[in-house]
Amino acid sequence: MIRSLKAGALLLLLSFGAAFAQSFPPDNDFYVNDYADLLTDAEEDELRATLDELFQARDIEFTVLTIPRMLDYGHTGSIESFATALFNYWGIGDADRNDGLLLLVSRFDRELRIEVGAGYGDTLNGPMQRVINNKIVPYFRLDDYPAGIRAGVDEIIFQVTDRYPGEYDSPWIERAWNGFKRLLVNLGWWLIAPFALVSPFVVRLIRRMQRNRPRICPNDGSRMRRYLEETEDDSLSPGQLVEERLESVDYDVWYCDRCDHVTIEGYRAWFSRYGACRECGFRTVEGESRTIRAATYSSTGLREADYNCHHCNAHYTVQSTIPKKRKSSSSSRSGSRGGGRSSGGGASGSW
Ligand SMILES: [Zn+2]
Ligand SMILES: [Zn+2]
Repeated sequence: MIRSLKAGALLLLLSFGAAFAQSFPPDNDFYVNDYADLLTDAEEDELRATLDELFQARDIEFTVLTIPRMLDYGHTGSIESFATALFNYWGIGDADRNDGLLLLVSRFDRELRIEVGAGYGDTLNGPMQRVINNKIVPYFRLDDYPAGIRAGVDEIIFQVTDRYPGEYDSPWIERAWNGFKRLLVNLGWWLIAPFALVSPFVVRLIRRMQRNRPRICPNDGSRMRRYLEETEDDSLSPGQLVEERLESVDYDVWYCDRCDHVTIEGYRAWFSRYGACRECGFRTVEGESRTIRAATYSSTGLREADYNCHHCNAHYTVQSTIPKKRKSSSSSRSGSRGGGRSSGGGASGSW
């Protein structure tokens, strides 16, 4: 008697514990809930537009969810069980057709899952596995989460609808042309890669040649002489010297021996964190920006940047407006999902 009471109490405790332990991320957005912060706002918007287009054109509910780790929601089991439970808790997809789609990425678990509605049966398991292995994981391994999610979503949509985003109502000839372009882009990647590696050197070489070509004095037509870096300092202004020290601009000083004419030529660095100072005009100002007020759907945000000049010591602050967050046409549907179910179909992967 006492023993069964104890067992009952234990069972009660366990079930409370379990109910407390397992929770799910909030379903705030119909299309994209990026709790692991893998995407920029612009990337989220782009993804939303793609998923909204799918929903409008084919009535298929596809949602993308990223989370830091499953343990944050009290889950210690597999990503498969987490995804199925979450799919059914949210009710993704149409309740009669059960055609919903979920792409779940658990960042620090380094696991992902494509969970599909019960209506697909097992038919999508193989294709989804290939999407994960061939389209998503290669990018994730390079820590390029936006590209992996983007490529994965496009390919999932193609596997399910036989159309890529933007081509739902396109005639076959247009789709064939787009397919050809996609092929070129994929091929082009391999063709362009060697050039991309070499081109900075080529450009630098051309620039070097331009810098070294002889200069003629405008006064007497004689060939000018370029000062060595050490001796040119006397000809440069204090601001130019600071620019040289910060490596934001590199100066060449050309000198005419016959008439003492001096020509100064500045070459801006391609990548420099120093900008042009509002006060003195030299490229000696360094800025640090921070968000004062984040943008919301109803109001714009505010960003503020503090600038410090290494030449004239000016300090100034510039405020700029962050545009309102854009609502996709269907985000009003948030929380009003179709009530679809999954029976555990789909595929998983890790990276
Ligand atoms: Zn001269
Ligand atoms: Zn300044």
